[in-house]
Amino acid sequence: MRFYSTNCQAPEVSFKEAVIKGLPQDKGLFYPQTIPVLPASFFEALPDMELPEIAFEVLRAYTEPDLSADQLQEICQEVFTFPIPLVKVENNTYSLELFHGPTCAFKDVGARFMSRCLQAFAQKGKPLTVLVATSGDTGSAVANGFLGVENIEVVILYPNGGVSEVQEMQFTTLGQNIQAVAVEGVFDDCQALVKQAFSDEELAKNMQLSSANSINVARWLPQMVYYFHAWGQWRKQNPDQQQDEVTIAVPSGNFGNLAAGLLAREMGLPVKYYIAATNRNKVVPDYLESGNYTPAPSVATIANAMDVGAPNNFPRILEMFQQNHISVQQVVKGFWVDDEKVKTVIQEVNDEQNYLLDPHGAIAYLSLKQYLPSLQTAGIFLETAHPAKFKGSIDEILGTDTPLPEQLQAFLNKPKQVINIKNDFSELAAVLQGNLSPSLS
Ligand SMILES: *Cc1c(COP(=O)(O)O)cnc(C)c1O
Repeated sequence: MRFYSTNCQAPEVSFKEAVIKGLPQDKGLFYPQTIPVLPASFFEALPDMELPEIAFEVLRAYTEPDLSADQLQEICQEVFTFPIPLVKVENNTYSLELFHGPTCAFKDVGARFMSRCLQAFAQKGKPLTVLVATSGDTGSAVANGFLGVENIEVVILYPNGGVSEVQEMQFTTLGQNIQAVAVEGVFDDCQALVKQAFSDEELAKNMQLSSANSINVARWLPQMVYYFHAWGQWRKQNPDQQQDEVTIAVPSGNFGNLAAGLLAREMGLPVKYYIAATNRNKVVPDYLESGNYTPAPSVATIANAMDVGAPNNFPRILEMFQQNHISVQQVVKGFWVDDEKVKTVIQEVNDEQNYLLDPHGAIAYLSLKQYLPSLQTAGIFLETAHPAKFKGSIDEILGTDTPLPEQLQAFLNKPKQVINIKNDFSELAAVLQGNLSPSLS
């Protein structure tokens, strides 16, 4: 597959180049030149297909010829090793649990897929350094996705004191090829240091730098896989249903996940509507209503992985619909809520359905409540994180002591290895060139 830039001012590239570059020079986003439509036979077989098999069929056209069929098959086997169950919460409403991976968040899928692709592309003898800034969840998914991958070093920058304890443990205790760097500053400072590193000529001479940002096509495209899987599982559980279209609600921040779901629909997946479900950071629901897209500074909420005021994947959605507001509106419904409503619904669903929602999934669940009665389809919402990841909020709402899942518990018992730096590029450059070592604590 060839990929062009949504800004149209940069040359087309192959899958491999798009993965290594991350972003086109013109600051657009890479977008596939054609979107393949899968045959009816694929959808008939879907309810009985395993995740790695689905992944192979869905992704093959995008990764050819840079990954051979054998390589892609092997990667899909290594990435999709954890279950993604579709759980019935109540009549006509299902939760797609995307939180059974190593860091208990859906970002595990994309991070693992990207790391395996980069590994396949890393030139022998010249190690690749993956540099990423995180405000929490991206760091843990990327660190765990790249752990132990040969020929790749991962450097994770995070604001000292600015991430939750569980999140910090997930990327500071791994060792091996993962180096955590605590910056005296805020997330924006970390992001600025990363940008400076990419434009530094001295560094470019000495090392091969790559970014694991969420807009990378190798993180974006594999997210399509679980939408196909969700529909297949829904058919399997409802074989007699006449109507075969569903509505899928996606808790959204940077809108990569929703853009992947929409791309799956372009490939033939029978989804009638998507719901763009957000917290008070409602730039996209506002756009859906008015046609005006106005990025704004983000505001803090309890669904903090969705606190994004300028969603970086949104141009892909506009590209898919030829920038036509009415066309987007026909498929994507907008929804947003404030924290109070989220807290109430977590309590209600826990009491009445005995199902524990996390704050992000709760927003998507609420959006189905509003829309389903008028849409005449079944509804699936994405549960993007394990509720215990937000233990602080959940315990406060329910008055309980939510146990941490085993995957997360394991991180808490290991020593942290962190390099502390000032908000100063020369210190980051020293880390990247191996001249500063971690302290144990
Ligand atoms: C990252 C994240 C989101 C938002 O996903 P986007 O693809 O950025 O829209 C939602 N929920 C959780 C738990 C996340 O970690």
